[in-house]
Amino acid sequence: MPELPEVEVVRRGLQDHVVGRHLTRARISGVRVARRHDAGAEDLADRLHDVTVTAASRRGKYLWLALDGEDALIVHLGMSGQMLVEPADAPLEKHCHARFDFSDGGPQLRFVDQRTFGGLALSPLGPDAIPQAVAHIAPDPFEAAYDQAAVVRRMKLRDSAVKRALLDQTLVSGIGNIYADEALWRARVHGERLCSALTKPTLSRILDHAREVMGEALGHGGTSFDSLYVNVNGASGYFDRSLHAYGRDGTPCDRCGTIMCREHFMNRSSFSCPVCQPRPRRRSVA
Ligand SMILES: [Zn+2]
Repeated sequence: MPELPEVEVVRRGLQDHVVGRHLTRARISGVRVARRHDAGAEDLADRLHDVTVTAASRRGKYLWLALDGEDALIVHLGMSGQMLVEPADAPLEKHCHARFDFSDGGPQLRFVDQRTFGGLALSPLGPDAIPQAVAHIAPDPFEAAYDQAAVVRRMKLRDSAVKRALLDQTLVSGIGNIYADEALWRARVHGERLCSALTKPTLSRILDHAREVMGEALGHGGTSFDSLYVNVNGASGYFDRSLHAYGRDGTPCDRCGTIMCREHFMNRSSFSCPVCQPRPRRRSVA
């Protein structure tokens, strides 16, 4: 799954190549791409006719294009979704599920998704310019609306594992499995420690690290993509080299040299250093 930094790279590409352009036609192939749009594929295509893209926005891992400032076209990238900006006469990709033409006759926008877990849907924009369908998602650490002290207060009240809280998109958004593990490694905290058992400064430090590690990934990603090719492919190769925890089981900890371990957590894998990040004495209820 793409995480916040990868989604932000796509958003920036859309900002540069699509915002300000007037949509004249949308072609949707098949029904799967529109399955999150309740009124169906035909309605989706109809409503993407004769509208201007006024913004490319993101909250956490949610990405959308604002249309005439009224509706949002939410882009679910799923596992393999890509937004491509290409000349209209470029060969059609095998897994292209939606194509958009613009009044300027410039490059098309295409939604390509090999595994079809992604999709497109329209949702009305609320007064805060957040789509209704995203309103239940908490601000991410890069937003002005993000209030870390408030997030820490809410975490401190929870008797759940700290990693579970970091992944809870209604508490703080944008932190996925990779960046949660990196933040916890940097903060030297095991993900199964209970929020309520950690001090507020420690909780705040973990969130600082999450923001920092995602910010670093953004720094790497911002320089790596071609100006006409907006692309996302899940975990990004460019950042793999600088990961200290995720996927590092069996290799020495970059801080203390102890062999890193991998554990099962919430149907995923967690990676940590058994010395830098000691397990809680009692196994928490994940
Ligand atoms: Zn270590």
